[in-house]
Amino acid sequence: MGFKRYQLYPRVIDDLKKRSTIGIIFYLTTACIVMFTDKYYIRHPQFSNPFLFTLSGVCLARLVHLSFAQWAQPKFNKFNNNIFILSVALTALIWGIGFAKFMIQDGELSSTLLMTMCTIGLCAGGVVAFIPDLRLSISFNFFTLMPAIGIMVFYQMNMPLVMSLSIFFIYLCFISHRGNREYWDALENEYLLEEKSKVLEEMSRVDDLTKLYNKRYFDETLCFEWNRAVRYQTSISIIICDIDRFKQINDKYGHLAGDKYLKAIGMLLKNVFKRQTDITARYGGDEFIVLMPNTSLEDAGRLSEMIRVKTQELHLEYEGQTIKTTMSLGTASCVPDQKTKPQSLIMEADKALYQSKTSRRNQVIEDK
Ligand code: GH3
Ligand code: MG
Repeated sequence: MGFKRYQLYPRVIDDLKKRSTIGIIFYLTTACIVMFTDKYYIRHPQFSNPFLFTLSGVCLARLVHLSFAQWAQPKFNKFNNNIFILSVALTALIWGIGFAKFMIQDGELSSTLLMTMCTIGLCAGGVVAFIPDLRLSISFNFFTLMPAIGIMVFYQMNMPLVMSLSIFFIYLCFISHRGNREYWDALENEYLLEEKSKVLEEMSRVDDLTKLYNKRYFDETLCFEWNRAVRYQTSISIIICDIDRFKQINDKYGHLAGDKYLKAIGMLLKNVFKRQTDITARYGGDEFIVLMPNTSLEDAGRLSEMIRVKTQELHLEYEGQTIKTTMSLGTASCVPDQKTKPQSLIMEADKALYQSKTSRRNQVIEDK
């Protein structure tokens, strides 16, 4: 049991989109707060207008693209995922350039402080939001902070701030790394658990020895098919079969030989009933049952006869000896109504099987 990381990637992209959508609105509101507080945009229109314009443009394009990608899925999945990742990086870069501009301007202490606080908040939030993809999370961190750090280093200004922003950048890289590992561990555990529960569910339906369905699953399916047959007024048929003198096989050749014979009968039944809707189950020790929705008594009788003949022809080789026996079968069929219960059909088939056993065995008796 296992899976490759790329198999989980569609789920990761989906998570990333969900985690990042709310952030788009925060960019816009935060940019407005910084630009409109203290009428900054009136004093610096050459910067404020293009900054707000490009940022809103990218954010709107991202919102439109997210709806488009959802509509177009899965047609252009890879293309849309690349656009999504590029648009996230572009938003971070635009913000990062705006932040850098604030860092090198003179005489706007309160706006610069506001922008620094907002950038740190946005950056930390973004890094956490993009944790499912480590490269995206670190790129986001890089594009938001590095333009400001770079330009301040270039002009040799505000070095204590450069230091603290660099430490903050490194700290966020650690958070990304750690968070990414935890995210993937949790995701892998979730998928492993899902796979295991599928296997367990399958195991709870199947008989261990013969690999046919078990009685519990048969009874559940019978109820389901019965209700369907009541609704559509179609016929439903059942075959119950029991190996003749099976105890003698166990006594003569041993229990393991008996097991091998039961397995062979399991295979035989699987080969006869290939329709998806036919349910073949081991009903107990050496007793088997077949449910055939939409099947007449005639057809059920024909299939029963086929089982009988094939069982008679089955010569199982076991440790140099040949094991062979026969099968007795009882068949019943009806078009059920609301008043009758599924158990009544089983009882009819069982009665037919009893007649078959008490007369001469190795025969099919149909309940008429
Ligand atoms: P009849 O023709 O009347 O059916 O005779 P029979 O000997 O087959 O009698 P019955 O059906 O009552 O016997 C079933 C036997 O199947 C008894 C039991 O020991 C054996 N059995 C039940 N489950 C298993 C199993 O899982 N493995 C093996 N080897 N034997 C089993
Ligand atoms: Mg038997």
